[in-house]
Amino acid sequence: MPPPPHGRSLPETERTRHRRLREQGSLDRADLDAILAAGFVCHLGVSVDGTLMVVPTVYGSDGSTLYFHGSVASRSLVASPGAAVCVTVTHVDGLVLARSVFEHGVNYRSAMVFGVPRPVTDPDEKLEGLRCLTEQATPGQWDYARRPSRKELAATTLLALSLEEASVKVRTGPPDDGESPDAELPVWAGILPLHASWGTPEPDPLLAPDIVAPPHIAQRSGPR
Ligand SMILES: Cc1cc2nc3c(=O)[nH]c(=O)nc-3n(C[C@H](O)[C@H](O)[C@H](O)COP(=O)(O)OP(=O)(O)OC[C@H]3O[C@@H](n4cnc5c(N)ncnc54)[C@H](O)[C@@H]3O)c2cc1C
Repeated sequence: MPPPPHGRSLPETERTRHRRLREQGSLDRADLDAILAAGFVCHLGVSVDGTLMVVPTVYGSDGSTLYFHGSVASRSLVASPGAAVCVTVTHVDGLVLARSVFEHGVNYRSAMVFGVPRPVTDPDEKLEGLRCLTEQATPGQWDYARRPSRKELAATTLLALSLEEASVKVRTGPPDDGESPDAELPVWAGILPLHASWGTPEPDPLLAPDIVAPPHIAQRSGPR
């Protein structure tokens, strides 16, 4: 794991120190930022009443904090403040198809964040966190759609998790058995890339026909 070229390192802690497949680990803070910026769904792992739950949920990142939200009744969000949680963000870039099943794998970019979330109660920070979350999934939507009412804000829990303790792993490239004895096998080997992309917007059937999709929705393209 070479040091990051431009000096912004992720601190290694007892929890984030890579042990297996260390060569896939990165300590470059820019890699963490890029992985978080490329997604909007994470998995929040938290113990709820003694049972470990790993809950898919949307997030927003402002570069130093991850925000999650949900109903005030959400059990995972009720249990998280004050509890140690682990959040993962994963992007699958392709299947690594080797000569042997043993060497099969996945090309990916993933991040894990450890910490103790805090509930956001300050009204200004709550709105800013919700803006961050909304914009992460759909840039432009915060200024376009109606913002939360006071009643809706009261019904929403927003949690903030510092990005101070985080790790990154990235796998790229072909299978690892091209120079092994298995290279003699008449078996195709390589990468099957996986690309996720946005489709054509589908209007709500109940939408008034004169309301057209705004540019930030209609012209959205490329991967996410
Ligand atoms: C889509 C996908 C599929 C995978 N499939 C497999 C599989 O089938 N088998 C397999 O063995 N491994 C797989 N991995 C890799 C897996 O995530 C672990 O990195 C690996 O299994 C080592 O686990 P460990 O508990 O021994 O990690 P350790 O090296 O003990 O972990 C130490 C620390 O390293 C960091 N870390 C570990 N893994 C990751 C990660 N993926 N992203 C960010 N930080 C990390 C964490 O901070 C962790 O606490 C996959 C990864 C992805 C993203």
